[in-house]
Amino acid sequence: MKLKDYFIPDHYFPSVVRIKPEFFAENNIKCLICDIDNTLATYKEALPQKDVKDWLDTVEASGVRIALISNNREKRVYTFNSVLGYLYVSNAGKPFTGGMKKLMKQTRISPEQTALIGDQIFTDVLCAKRTGVRSILVRSIDMTGRPFLRMKKHFERYFMDQYYRKNNIY
Ligand SMILES: [Mg+2]
Repeated sequence: MKLKDYFIPDHYFPSVVRIKPEFFAENNIKCLICDIDNTLATYKEALPQKDVKDWLDTVEASGVRIALISNNREKRVYTFNSVLGYLYVSNAGKPFTGGMKKLMKQTRISPEQTALIGDQIFTDVLCAKRTGVRSILVRSIDMTGRPFLRMKKHFERYFMDQYYRKNNIY
């Protein structure tokens, strides 16, 4: 794998709820590990919105194991998960792979059948690639008041261009 391939997502969607539940079966994904902040909810939302919760329920009902992985602190992740009840890792330290390895040891689902979904290339996509799982990128839900994130998005653009080229999206 070339260095730049570590930063190009395998799939890209404008938001999680836009992914049809069939997508996972079609792509042989049996375990979906989800980033929380700006992927499933904004930083301000302590709990998932109804549409996201419904989407997670539907995906889970279709036979996909779901887990949460967040670099945020235990209290945030514990509270968010209180209405979901998934396996989770907080303070995951993405793009380092320790959190992913810990989760995958518990799910016992192969890397080939596992996907990590998140909103950041240098955190989530890189972590997925280093762990050897499929990577799904979504657009960050809300970046207001986060100038550093905005700057990172600027650097992500190069890799998104590569993604579009690779998938013939112009
Ligand atoms: Mg995030």
